[in-house]
Amino acid sequence: MPLGDASQNYSDASDTALRLKVDLHIHSDASHDGRSSVESILERASEIGLDAIAITDHDSISESLRAHEIASEYGIVSIPGVEISTSDGHLLALGIDDLPEIGMPIDETVEKVRDLGGLAVVPHPFQRTRHGAGKVDDCDAIEVYNSRLLTGRSNRKAKKYAEKKGFTQVGGSDAHTVSMVGRTYTEIITTIDSKVETSEKVLESLRQEISTTSVHGRRTPIHLSARQIAKGGGKKAAKSIKSAMFGLL
Ligand SMILES: [Zn+2]
Ligand SMILES: [Zn+2]
Repeated sequence: MPLGDASQNYSDASDTALRLKVDLHIHSDASHDGRSSVESILERASEIGLDAIAITDHDSISESLRAHEIASEYGIVSIPGVEISTSDGHLLALGIDDLPEIGMPIDETVEKVRDLGGLAVVPHPFQRTRHGAGKVDDCDAIEVYNSRLLTGRSNRKAKKYAEKKGFTQVGGSDAHTVSMVGRTYTEIITTIDSKVETSEKVLESLRQEISTTSVHGRRTPIHLSARQIAKGGGKKAAKSIKSAMFGLL
C-alpha cells in the first residue's frame, strides 16, 4: 500500500520544504526474532514510497551495513544502525559504522553513539516488558509511536515525555516481518536541500532545529506481536501477551 505523495514534493517549486518519509526502526533476519532479508525490506520500503529506512537489528550491525551499501539499487536510502541493549534498556543508534559496547549504561552509550557520529534515539521508552529505557535525560530523539503496542498507553506517555523535554519526536514500525515495514513512519519536514540522497543528509535533516517531524503510526496486528514475542521472549512473554489480549477483547 503506497504511503502517499512524498515524491511530488520534490518537484513542487512553490513549497520549499522537503517532506521525507522514513521508518527508522526495522529488524531483519539478523535479529533473533526477525524474519525478513534486507533485500525484501528494501524492496518493500521502496514500493510503498518511503524515502529512507534504518535496519536496526538487536546488537548486530552487519546486515544494516550491507543494506546501506545496496540501498541505492532500490532507489532508497538505508541508514546504518543498530538497536543496542544497554543496561538500562534499548537504544537505537543511527548513522554509525561500528557497534558500540553492549550492556553499558544508557547515558554512556548515548555519548558513545555521538562520538561515532551517530544519532541516539530511545525506542518504546515506556514499554518496560520490551526493555524500554524509561525517562532518559539526554538523547537526540524519542520514539513516540512504536507499532508494536497493546493499549497505546506507553506511546502516549512517550509523546508527553518528549513534549515536556523538548526532544525530537520520531516513530518506528519496529517491523519484524516485511509486511509491517512502514506501518509507522516519521515525516521529516525540512528545508535542508532540494534533494536528500544520503543517510548523512537524512540524519542532518533530523538534527536541524528548523526541521519538524510528524509521526504517522498504526499498530501491528496483535496476533503478529504475540507470535513474535512468543518466539523472541519465551513462554512467559507469550502468556502475558495472551492475557492482555483477552483483557482487550
Ligand atoms: Zn526494542
Ligand atoms: Zn526493535
